[in-house]
Amino acid sequence: MSMRIGFGYDSHRLVEGRPFMLGGMLIPHHKGGLGHSDADALLHAITDAILGAAALGDIGTHFPDTDPVWKDADSKLLLKHVVGLVRQKGWTVGNVDCTAVLEQPKLRPHVDAMRTTIAALLGTGVEAVSVKAKTNEKMGFTGREEGVCAYAAVLLERA
Ligand code: MG
Repeated sequence: MSMRIGFGYDSHRLVEGRPFMLGGMLIPHHKGGLGHSDADALLHAITDAILGAAALGDIGTHFPDTDPVWKDADSKLLLKHVVGLVRQKGWTVGNVDCTAVLEQPKLRPHVDAMRTTIAALLGTGVEAVSVKAKTNEKMGFTGREEGVCAYAAVLLERA
């Protein structure tokens, strides 16, 4: 069994009047992520971690924000596309562990639905998907609620 690890990070500014997408879910909130796509920082971090594990570049090279095709794009489709790319190279996702950092809204009520959504996109069982949420103790851009960020680690396996 061959294994590769990958790490991903992403952040998006939070602004009034945008839908707040995180972990593939629409989360009720008065602000949402500003971005070319739907600005789902958690799915973007996972997508970058998968690309990183396979050394296939990053999300910006595959989905440039200068390309109108990706305007308001559903990040679930970007993640699904990248899972397909690494699958072509013989890799499957072993597990993913990710952390979102934001002061509010509280994510706990949404974590199980996020895990189910992400597992379906990755083609893994839900037990292979960990989603954690933290505040930043009111420090920095996440603490001031100017933005949301997310980190992800992923394991790819090849028989
Ligand atoms: Mg992003």
